[in-house]
Amino acid sequence: MAKAMTIPDYHPYQQAHLNKPQLQFSDIAPLIEHYQVQPWLTVTELGRSVKQQPIYQLQLGQGDKRILAWSQMHGDESTATAALFDLLNYLQAPEQAAWREQLFAEITLYIIPMLNPDGAAKHSRVNAQGIDINRDALALQSPEGQLLMAAAKQIKPHFAFNLHDQNRFHAAGPYPNPATISLLAPAYNAEREINASRRAAMQLIAHVQPWLEQQIPQHIGRYADDWSARSFGDTFAAMGISTVLVESGAYRGDDNRQMARWLNFQLYVAWLAAIASDSYQQADVALYNAIPFNRSGGMKDVLLQGLTVSIGDTTATVDLAINLALTGDRRARIDELGDLSLFSAFHQFSVQGLAFKAGQAYPLNTALSLDTEAHLALLQQGYTHFSGDKALLQASSRLPVLLNPLRPTQGSPQLWQGATFLLVNTQGKVVQAVLNGQLISVPSGVIHNPLGT
Ligand SMILES: [Zn+2]
Repeated sequence: MAKAMTIPDYHPYQQAHLNKPQLQFSDIAPLIEHYQVQPWLTVTELGRSVKQQPIYQLQLGQGDKRILAWSQMHGDESTATAALFDLLNYLQAPEQAAWREQLFAEITLYIIPMLNPDGAAKHSRVNAQGIDINRDALALQSPEGQLLMAAAKQIKPHFAFNLHDQNRFHAAGPYPNPATISLLAPAYNAEREINASRRAAMQLIAHVQPWLEQQIPQHIGRYADDWSARSFGDTFAAMGISTVLVESGAYRGDDNRQMARWLNFQLYVAWLAAIASDSYQQADVALYNAIPFNRSGGMKDVLLQGLTVSIGDTTATVDLAINLALTGDRRARIDELGDLSLFSAFHQFSVQGLAFKAGQAYPLNTALSLDTEAHLALLQQGYTHFSGDKALLQASSRLPVLLNPLRPTQGSPQLWQGATFLLVNTQGKVVQAVLNGQLISVPSGVIHNPLGT
């Protein structure tokens, strides 16, 4: 992994304007335009999406070892798209000219960034037909899937990089962390056998494992290699292409997955160098097998541990998990209750000794000017949200102001109720509040997990 570790500084190569939760075609269109006129690579329009958005392929180098990389076949998974443009920046930098020449004598790299622009436009996994392109490798009913298969058949790549994002709830094996990068050399048959081409993919992963472990210890996962015939990775593996699946994941305090983006960039540089020099062939497959399996659902957004919940004569001590719904309606909900000691969280708080109390709605009958101080005073009186006419509320509070919320908690906490309630001490005094999933100390007003962190 010598090459990646000698990169002095990533920032000069980081493509501007791509630090966003979701990239659309308009984000990459000017970059495509830029590369269309560069002499050192070839940009071709492979075809069009269902909604007639162009899908491009960039071809770099003239070596015999052919690599096909594509990103965002799931429209809402754009981390790798950004990383691919970082890689292009790196490759076009004058200080890399010598290395590039050396590299391009050995490899030809084909990049298809954003295979699913229609899904990207709608922040959707599927294409405009509602088809999951990555389950269309056999049926080939989506134009995007057809384009990818045609490209593979024409190029006959030796290696494929299948670049995705995974949801933030995958834990890195037994560790209390999200899997920031997950990797897989997909199976080519139901028996999950290892042939030469699959071994090469495993070795590519083994080659970078020690470096990854150094950069993000206990944040790396591996997918189970169950054979998925309809998926492109497995189908390409069955075509004899050494295929590596990269799933970019979450990292604490990194909503836009810039950590995973940086790691992707480093992995691409390392893999290109290793393929050009064949150095990955020295890697021990045991390092691949040492990567722990992902624990799907192992992470929660927010975990309150040791909450006292009373219903009638019953009193229980439970953990309470909250799903923050970072996209969509952005309404935080109670996700799970009970013994959640198996789970880890992005935000974890002990609320030992505190009891759940449902909040009341403060009725807006007359105009209310709500600053933070007034808001905190209402929380202390047991009001967590407001009901009535929005026009009557003049809010300048820096705490979340919830007006007519859907399904506020009532009585006791229940699954999928809104995560807005109070925590009281043994004297019944409000000491903390949860407002739309954010834990707030009362009366200090400290927000312990402000959204956007
Ligand atoms: Zn995906």
